[in-house]
Amino acid sequence: MDRHRRQGIGMTSRRTRERLAGRLGDAGIRDVHVLNVIRQIPRHLFVDEALASRAYEDTALPIGHGQTISQPFVVARMTEILIRHRIPGRVLEIGTGSGYQAAVLAALVDRVHTVERIRALYERSRALFRQLDIRNIRQRLSDGHEGWPAAGPFDAILLTAAPVVIPQTLFDQLAEQGELLAPVGSGESQALRIHRRVEGAIETEDIEAVSFVPMLDGLE
Ligand code: SAH
Repeated sequence: MDRHRRQGIGMTSRRTRERLAGRLGDAGIRDVHVLNVIRQIPRHLFVDEALASRAYEDTALPIGHGQTISQPFVVARMTEILIRHRIPGRVLEIGTGSGYQAAVLAALVDRVHTVERIRALYERSRALFRQLDIRNIRQRLSDGHEGWPAAGPFDAILLTAAPVVIPQTLFDQLAEQGELLAPVGSGESQALRIHRRVEGAIETEDIEAVSFVPMLDGLE
């Protein structure tokens, strides 16, 4: 990658990121640490070069293979929720996709584990993390329905693809006081739901409506 692309010029400049962070603040993102990370991470590198000029709009964008990079507001919101009480030590993300959400989290927590079912996306995000010198993300090519049993239990689990029902396996990998954040449902829009493990039982709360791609079975 050439120097200009790495540093960001024109539509991908620092000022453009600053504007995005400002918009997210206006839209209700309160956590300054989250907004600072949005200011730092070059989202244009996580989308195709042809879409780079749109990378700092607050919209989801295609990343190939029928998948999308999540809308910045939703990434910021989910991140803000996961760190609102404490910084979780071990985090698992289901649906690496472009890697943007994982990169945002990795700037705020010790270690992120992330799984993806599409090999091409797994490989592309792996190369990008290396290029950006992000070292605290562990990745696996696998079906997220299995979670990542050997790396758990997790203080936080987030799903960035929507299941109709959250797999029990994922609850089994949630630590005491841990939180699982997921879009749940089969329609165009789903409920963003937070589940907390309290003394063995699971407490559930609906946050807001969101729109994610569906969680699918098997590898691709
Ligand atoms: N967090 C991503 C969002 C990507 S879209 C980002 O920041 O870009 C959701 C991703 O979930 C897609 O890449 C899709 O392939 C993946 N996915 C869907 N079902 C999955 C499953 N069962 N296991 C792992 N990944 C899955």
